[in-house]
Amino acid sequence: MAAKPILATLALLPLLACQAPQAAPAASAPAWVLAHPERHAEANCIFCKIVAGVAPSRKVYEDDRVVAFWDIAPRAPIHILVIPKQHIRSLDQLDQLPVETRAALLDACFKVAKQFGLTEHGFRVIANTGSDANQTVPHLHFHVVGGERLLEDPITIPGKAAAPAP
Ligand code: AMP
Ligand code: ZN
Repeated sequence: MAAKPILATLALLPLLACQAPQAAPAASAPAWVLAHPERHAEANCIFCKIVAGVAPSRKVYEDDRVVAFWDIAPRAPIHILVIPKQHIRSLDQLDQLPVETRAALLDACFKVAKQFGLTEHGFRVIANTGSDANQTVPHLHFHVVGGERLLEDPITIPGKAAAPAP
């Protein structure tokens, strides 16, 4: 009869169970990432952490789509960063943002400029995009800078413009 082989197999089962390959633990994202899947937050993105409130910032404006806060190393008396709550790396991925968020970003730049009294004498809005522009934080952000006569840059120096394309 086949009773002996069956019994032998049964006796081996606990051993086989011990050696069964264990499923790799799911790489679990932090709770603050899972809480808002619509933000596509990246766990190691400092600006996503600021949006979630798990990294410190000096917020000056917030609505359901955008946040604005002081730059940690201001290069002008007023230097505010305006960012979307949804993570995209820069303007080169703008098509991934809902048009309402695109509008909210521009609107927030204007609100911040008003809030800090920049609309009277002028200000600059800058979005460094990618390596040629020396972008250092890969989460879309607009620098709103003002409060003094701003130094010239390659965009505004007269005569530096490239010859028009034929
Ligand atoms: P960009 O070089 O255009 O990518 O600008 C990134 C800006 O983010 C720089 O002006 C930094 O000073 C600023 N920055 C980096 N980390 C923080 C932070 N934790 N809080 C506020 N601003 C930051
Ligand atoms: Zn981010």
